[in-house]
Amino acid sequence: MNQIQKEFLEIVADVRAHLEYQRALGVKSIETGLSNIQTPIVRPVAGKEKTVVAAESPPVVKETAKPVTTANSVQPMTLEAIREEIGDCTRCKLHTGRKTIVFGEGNPKAVIVFVGEGPGFEEDEQGRPFVGEAGQLLTDIIVKGMKLKREDVYICNIVKCRPPGNRNPEPDEVESCIGFVKKQIRAINPKVIVTLGNVPTQNLLGTKQGITKIRGAWHTYEGIPLMPTFHPAYLLRSPGEKGKVWEDIQKVMGCLGIAVPAK
Ligand code: SF4
Repeated sequence: MNQIQKEFLEIVADVRAHLEYQRALGVKSIETGLSNIQTPIVRPVAGKEKTVVAAESPPVVKETAKPVTTANSVQPMTLEAIREEIGDCTRCKLHTGRKTIVFGEGNPKAVIVFVGEGPGFEEDEQGRPFVGEAGQLLTDIIVKGMKLKREDVYICNIVKCRPPGNRNPEPDEVESCIGFVKKQIRAINPKVIVTLGNVPTQNLLGTKQGITKIRGAWHTYEGIPLMPTFHPAYLLRSPGEKGKVWEDIQKVMGCLGIAVPAK
């Protein structure tokens, strides 16, 4: 493939990502500007998933067959069904110290899913993800940085119950719980996943590489573009690193066709 063909494919991917984003926001059609014909915004055929063939630049997406995700149906499980499956979970030892199961929240058709590691004190109290101090920072990134509403995106964690003392979840706890976040991602089928910190990045990508090394470059999870970045809690301890997260988020915005605000 020559350079012109590559650039053409990147432009097509950018336009497609932008149309998908508009569709997810509820826009049904757009004016073409060339005639009075309105062009419907389409989304990939149900049962298809994306394969990404880029790393450092916004991913180019093509469609391949998507696997069956429930025992009796070709349809992905709904978020409600996944929550029902979790029930009053006792699958790992984290259940003994939790107050609430923090399932996740946001737009079930979000184009972006943020994945953290696990609930902290405030999240356990309120039953909502990222509502403490670090959560406020994530909200600022979404609202002030990306110019989106928190309700536009989906936010969840690798484990649904608070690890004692806010320690990292242990491997057996992750193994017991990670199936649920994977099902959530399939149910939402976002355009981009953003992993926050080591735990979600390493466990979704199956790597032992640290976040400092791996952040800022495109990866894929089940064909979905995935951007690892620092956890907001780390930014509270190291505010000097905020610029790196903003760089990563701008790449995500570029991939989705969201305009980056001028400084
Ligand atoms: S962390 Fe996950 S697997 Fe463990 S008890 Fe909570 S919901 Fe169940």
